[in-house]
Amino acid sequence: MTLWKSRIEKKKVLILDGAWGTELFNRDLKPPQVPDAWNIERPEEVLAVALSYVNAGADIILTNTFGGSPLKLAKSGLERKTAEINRLGAEISKKAARDRALVFGSIGPTGEFVAPLGKATEVEMVKGFAEQAKALAAGGVDGIVIETMMDLTEAKAALRAVRENTSLPAAVTMTFNKAGHSYATLMGVRPEQAATELERAGANMVGANCGAGMDILIEVARLMRPATGLPIWCKPNAGLPELVDGNTVYRETPEQMSSKLAALVEAGATMVGGCCGSTPTHIHALVLERDKLAA
Ligand SMILES: [Zn+2]
Repeated sequence: MTLWKSRIEKKKVLILDGAWGTELFNRDLKPPQVPDAWNIERPEEVLAVALSYVNAGADIILTNTFGGSPLKLAKSGLERKTAEINRLGAEISKKAARDRALVFGSIGPTGEFVAPLGKATEVEMVKGFAEQAKALAAGGVDGIVIETMMDLTEAKAALRAVRENTSLPAAVTMTFNKAGHSYATLMGVRPEQAATELERAGANMVGANCGAGMDILIEVARLMRPATGLPIWCKPNAGLPELVDGNTVYRETPEQMSSKLAALVEAGATMVGGCCGSTPTHIHALVLERDKLAA
């Protein structure tokens, strides 16, 4: 049995890590510099974020490689560093995790759209994601998470790249928002449709991350649960983003977030962490709450 499956068997609910972007910006990362570049330039800061989540008790932490596909890195002229950025990202998180946590390599969207909506081709996307996936595997990750996806074509291209170039388990999660009385990604993908199609495409875990807080992800998990037999991975933001003096803030406290863990698990989630605005303190609160529920 693979590592992640035996950990679920033992703990029932696994706690994932929290936000990386907001944590790195708190450590003085300044736009337009991209977080991924810090794997080369400021590895000690990246290691500190990884360690903060391991110390908070996360069962699985990710890598600082969310923007590490060559199509995305090309926007900052870093596409030639794809292999280095991803391998180092994996190595840094593995160094922090040692045998205390598993490491899943993060693959985020390219920022491009597949034709006819955009200029990118599916072949080009698979090729780019393959380069990223191979480097993450070379760095020693235990799995891959393809996250914050809006478009099924892109999500499936990333999944195909992982399948064809590694033997790693893969989670695929999309970003849903409330649309009237239902939920959909910006590209119109519904939660139940994502769960069905991504399972069929070979995902080992499906789910949702970012865009919304606990309350909305509880509804999204409830819609996904009957559509798939796979474990459901949920990383809500620390509430809905609010704009204050030109800055985006997330107000949900660790206590507020963890108080909703039972409802999220009841709705069908097996793996729970945090996305934007969540901190090691949020993750630690989720760990304590999970242990309380299990007792
Ligand atoms: Zn997020």
